[in-house]
Order: sequence, then structure tokens, then C-alpha cells
Amino acid sequence: MFLPQEIIRKKRNGHSLTDQEIRAFIQGITDGSVAGEQIAALAMAIWFRDMTLPERVALTLAMRDSGTVLNWQDLHLNGPVLDKHSTGGVGDVTSLMLGPMVAACGGYVPMISGRGLGHTGGTLDKLEAIPGLNIFPDNDRFRQIIRENGVAIIGQTRTLAPADQRFYATRDVTATVDSVPLITASILAKKLAEGLDALVMDVKAGSGAFMPDFDSSEQLARSIVDVANGAGCRTTALLTDMSQVLASSAGNALEVREAVRFLTGEYRHPRLLEVTMALSSEMLISGGLAGNDQQARARLQQVLDNGRAAEVFAQMVAAQGGPADFVEQYARYLTAAPVIKPVFAREPGVISAMDTREIGMTIVRMGGGRQRAGESIDYRVGISDIVAAGQPVDTHRPLAMVHAADEQSWQQAAESLQAAISVTHQPPKEIPLIYRRIC
Ligand code: URA
Repeated sequence: MFLPQEIIRKKRNGHSLTDQEIRAFIQGITDGSVAGEQIAALAMAIWFRDMTLPERVALTLAMRDSGTVLNWQDLHLNGPVLDKHSTGGVGDVTSLMLGPMVAACGGYVPMISGRGLGHTGGTLDKLEAIPGLNIFPDNDRFRQIIRENGVAIIGQTRTLAPADQRFYATRDVTATVDSVPLITASILAKKLAEGLDALVMDVKAGSGAFMPDFDSSEQLARSIVDVANGAGCRTTALLTDMSQVLASSAGNALEVREAVRFLTGEYRHPRLLEVTMALSSEMLISGGLAGNDQQARARLQQVLDNGRAAEVFAQMVAAQGGPADFVEQYARYLTAAPVIKPVFAREPGVISAMDTREIGMTIVRMGGGRQRAGESIDYRVGISDIVAAGQPVDTHRPLAMVHAADEQSWQQAAESLQAAISVTHQPPKEIPLIYRRIC
């Protein structure tokens, strides 16, 4: 019988916990026998004392096993079960294209996504901009959509890694979110509960990233790759740039529009295309669906060009309760904001840098994200046609189009954008889009 206070003491004193101690503590979080203050104390002890790789693996597996772990074996799928997870960004709509693209290449993608967090957008919120789309189908229906269509994107239920739900809520109010071992276990417990054969992680670095600096983004990527592989799930990570908005738009309905236009070939933003291709390629290779990056990219390009990826997306939307003609009629279904106007830079010049976090917060303040958990959001608002670093702006070429609920909100957003986007006379130093592959 393990006493929670003895486990806390051991970690506080800088010792490694055993598998049994970690399992017992997590079991106590799940069944309520460990008190909130004990969770907080262990989180703080881990924050200061860190965890070894075996401890991180044990914590991840214990949290994964605190609830339902999906099992696809009885469906006899004829391809690997794959997923991607991103640490979050602004204008990062990758999942909506990557899921259908990988499914169109023979993978199965049971993606369990989250809502917007802080300044970052959430895939679930974007999907809910589609009228009628249900992000909580029951388990039988979820499995049926995966079997028949290869991809579905749904929300986290209470039975998925419940220990993480309680652990995270405590960390959130005790200044212990920013701990690499705790973030690693929290992210992976949920992803590994999907019953995956392989995973790719998109860890962002730059002004809009969740981690505060490049080194900590890299540390997190390394930790996730080592722990996931240690837990038996083939995993690679890409460290990608979030020092500017990833796509040409940010905001829920606007990003869905961008995803549809990407899939149909109407418009493919170059940075979004490259990150989506690179992550999808990792998935095809880890899943054994392609031998190398070149082969993977050729297959992915084929399913974009022949319309198969767009078709899989359309079927996913319809299977989850959205309109059957959504891809053809997206402009009719995605409600536009009442005030849509360009915002110009205060001075002409070239874009040298962006405070991407502030751009995300601008959208939150316009109503496109939540200031408090559970709040409803305005799917219509956001920004489109946003400039990229190095591009010129002047009195004819705007920074972006701002889509707002009213004039006052437009004005506030315009001022925030002008402050968040730096304009100089010198072109900026070129920043790589993909910094590093970690395997
Ligand atoms: N996202 C998660 O799911 N968990 C963390 O700890 C941090 C970000």
C-alpha cells in the first residue's frame, strides 16, 4: 500500500519513483483517493526535480490506462492507425487536410482533438463552424466512420485519460503546466489512448508557440519522441516555425474555408502546404505506407490532384452530421462576419516580424476564442489575407483583412494587428519553416 505523501516526499527529495509508485498515485487521482493538494504537491515536486525517461514512460502509460484505450484489432483494418498532434498555433489548420490526405493514402486516422487554448486555435472549434457537425458521435459510430471513411475528428470524452483531466486542471491553477515531463505525459496519455500504430508530433517554436523559447520547444519534442517510442508507439517529431501565422487566415470559419480551398486546389498557401506535406509524409513513412519522403509526397500530391482527399473530407463532414454538399457549397454554409475591411500598416515597408501570440489573442478578444472555459464563440470572426514575413505593405497593400462582429471590435483588432506586426525597411533574415526532424 503506497501512501501519497510518501511518494511526494520521495520526489521532493530528488529520487526516482518506481512504476508501482507512479501507477498507485495515478490510480488515486482517478478514483479520488488522492486529494487535490497532494496532486498539486507532486506536480510541483516534479516541476523542480524533473523525471527520468523511465519515470516519464510510466507516468504516460499510467495516465493512458486510467480510462478507455481504443482497440482497432477487431475491425481488421487494412492499414495502419495513425495520428498527428500539434502543440498549437495560430492559423494552424493542418489537421483538417492532413487527416483526409493520410486516409486517402490508406491510413486510418481516429483523431481526438481539443478546443482552443490561450491564444491558439482548436480543431474542434473550427469543425463546429460547420453547421450540424457533431464532434461527439458515440463510440460505435466513431468506429464505423473510421472503418468506412478512414478518418474522423472528434472531441475528448470523459472516459479518455480521466487522470489527465484531473491532473491538468490542478496544474492549470498551481503554476505547474510548464513542466516538460508533465506536458509530455499529458499529451501522450491522450494520444496513446487512441490505440495508434504511429504518431507524428508537430512541436512549434517561435512567437506564437506554446513553449517560451526554441530550446524548450526542442526539449519537449525530444521528450515526446523518446517517451512515445519507449511506450511502444513509433513516433517522430518536426520542430516547425510559429513565428508568423501559418496559413493565410486565422479564425474558425475562415480556417475551415482555407482547408476546403486547399483540398480542392482553389488556393494552397505555400507555408501551410509544406508543413502539411511534411507531417503527412512522416505519418505515411512511420505507418509503412511509403518507403521514403519522396514516395510519400508523390502519393500525397496524387490524392490532392485527383480529388480523393477532398472527397474523404466531404464524406467525413457528412458522416459526422454536416451538410453533404459542404465542399461544393462552403461559402453558403460558413457565415460571414458583418464587418470585413482591410487594415493597413501605419508606415510602408516590409514585414520584419510578428508577435503571433498577440495576433491569436486579438482573435480571442474579437470573440473567436474563449476568455473563460465553456464560453460560446463567434465562428465568423478572424483575419484573412494576412501578409507573410518579407512581403511589402503600403497604402494599397494591407496587413490583412479583419472580419469583425461590429465596427468597434474591428477598430480594436485593427490597432492590435498594427502593433503586433512589425514593419521595417530591411527585409528580415530568412527563418526556416521546418527547423529539425527528431526521431
Ligand atoms: N496540452 C496538453 O494536453 N497538456 C499539457 O500539459 C499541455 C498542453
